[in-house]
Amino acid sequence: MTEHAVVIAGGGPTGLMLAGELALAGVDVAIVERRASQDLPGSRAGGLHSRTIEVFDQRGIAERFLSEGQVAQVQGFAFNRMDISDFPTRHPYGLGLWQNHIERILAGWVDELAVPIYRGREVTGFAQDDTGVDVEVSDGQSLRAKYLVGCDGGRSLIRKAAGIEFAGWDPTTSALLAQVEVAEEPELGIRQDELGTHSFGRVEYEIRDGEIVYADEGPVGVMVTERQPGAASEPTLRDLSEALITVYGTDYGIHSPTWITRFTDMTRQAASYREGRVLLAGDAAHVHYPAGGQGLNVGVQDAVNLGWKLAQVVKEISPPSLLDTYHAERHPVAARVLRNTMAQTALMRPADARLEALRETVSELLSMDEPRKWFAGMLSGLDIHYDLGEGHPLLGRRMPDLDLVTADGPLRVFTLLHDARPVLLNLGEPGGFDITPWADRVQLIDAKYVGTWELPVLGAVTAPTAVLIRPDGYVAWVGDITQPGLADALTTWCGPPRAA
Ligand SMILES: Cc1cc2nc3c(=O)[nH]c(=O)nc-3n(C[C@H](O)[C@H](O)[C@H](O)COP(=O)(O)OP(=O)(O)OC[C@H]3O[C@@H](n4cnc5c(N)ncnc54)[C@H](O)[C@@H]3O)c2cc1C
Repeated sequence: MTEHAVVIAGGGPTGLMLAGELALAGVDVAIVERRASQDLPGSRAGGLHSRTIEVFDQRGIAERFLSEGQVAQVQGFAFNRMDISDFPTRHPYGLGLWQNHIERILAGWVDELAVPIYRGREVTGFAQDDTGVDVEVSDGQSLRAKYLVGCDGGRSLIRKAAGIEFAGWDPTTSALLAQVEVAEEPELGIRQDELGTHSFGRVEYEIRDGEIVYADEGPVGVMVTERQPGAASEPTLRDLSEALITVYGTDYGIHSPTWITRFTDMTRQAASYREGRVLLAGDAAHVHYPAGGQGLNVGVQDAVNLGWKLAQVVKEISPPSLLDTYHAERHPVAARVLRNTMAQTALMRPADARLEALRETVSELLSMDEPRKWFAGMLSGLDIHYDLGEGHPLLGRRMPDLDLVTADGPLRVFTLLHDARPVLLNLGEPGGFDITPWADRVQLIDAKYVGTWELPVLGAVTAPTAVLIRPDGYVAWVGDITQPGLADALTTWCGPPRAA
């Protein structure tokens, strides 16, 4: 039987990111992926939000995505666009980049980290015991792992086999999404009618002065809301044609589909992200309507929250209870996404006068500065606040990517996180900290920072003297040379002290 420390079921964006995080920590991880190659026939997610670009930046791979995508103000709530160019981040924008490119770039990174991927095979079942998990693979092989992570999408076999409840709401609306060729030029852009929202766009596009400019030719992406929500069968070209004729009066001579799928506003979340040695991340743990383009982003960030914790547990640096903080921190984040996507679907329903009045009210609200910041902070992921107790506003929030000055010259905070190792950053008197019992795990950096401290949504905060930054870029302790609580924070997040 082949052994790995961690087996990941599913090599979509979440599984790939998690594999990269574990490999960076030196963990023997493998992915089992149903698809024979990383190619994705359809488009699905259209891009990245600011915090996801930041987490890639924390690993030194943001440029790979930025160089291929279209930087733009993409934040949206129902029909309202929100500009975040005034947000205090190095990336005050989103990135338009189709999911197939995002996956290709992530797979390239994972390949550099030498993660084995068992492609063209699927996990068909598992059995866990006190020391590990036997993972059954469709080729008849069995893998043995200390932990199994289900990153196998919304219909997750791992979630079902673990008996984890997927509580939530059935669909109220559904739409067909396809990539096709057309005989006649369709009306590009969004259309609203009594059925809901529909759109046509070319797959290839550029963003110029904040506006989408479609290519003159090439395949067309189409979305059309169906009259009856959520048919159970696989959608066909004929279904698409009929749905288009209902809305547009013509099907524009659609042909040669590369992809036709149906999506709904089904909204569900796993009641628990962990069952013993089995964990869930990404769509396996939460599904919702794609409004606001948040799904892939939340999945990637689940992976970044889980990766270093699982690595420390596997390497026996930290006790398994560290894994419970994964559910405690990430479940509320996705629950909030579920709530905001449900609110958006309600606003996007076919309008009558009262709903129209509500839409106008929400638009007015979002045109005001504070609500704009609050909503955009939530949708971009920049306002995430893990509950790590009372204290300085930085506690439990993302560490800003400051330009530091060290004895060796200038240094960006995110550069310190490239290896996914925790950092104790001392901005006070150099040499004031001694963390010898954790020196094998934690980087101690003396540096100076002269600028202001500003957090998205919150604004200016008082400058801390020292911060403990977790590998995922969230601040786990704020203090000074007197070090109250530092040993506890190091023990909680970086494992017990090493005996002298
Ligand atoms: C129409 C649409 C538009 C969207 N737009 C956006 C957007 O703009 N922004 C955004 O952030 N998100 C968007 N999303 C959501 C986004 O596509 C998903 O959230 C994202 O793909 C989730 O990634 P994942 O890795 O968790 O799951 P998936 O991408 O579903 O990957 C799961 C992987 O597991 C594999 N697999 C499944 N079962 C098994 C098994 N038993 N064994 C082995 N492998 C298995 C699958 O082949 C797949 O590769 C959109 C989704 C849709 C449908």
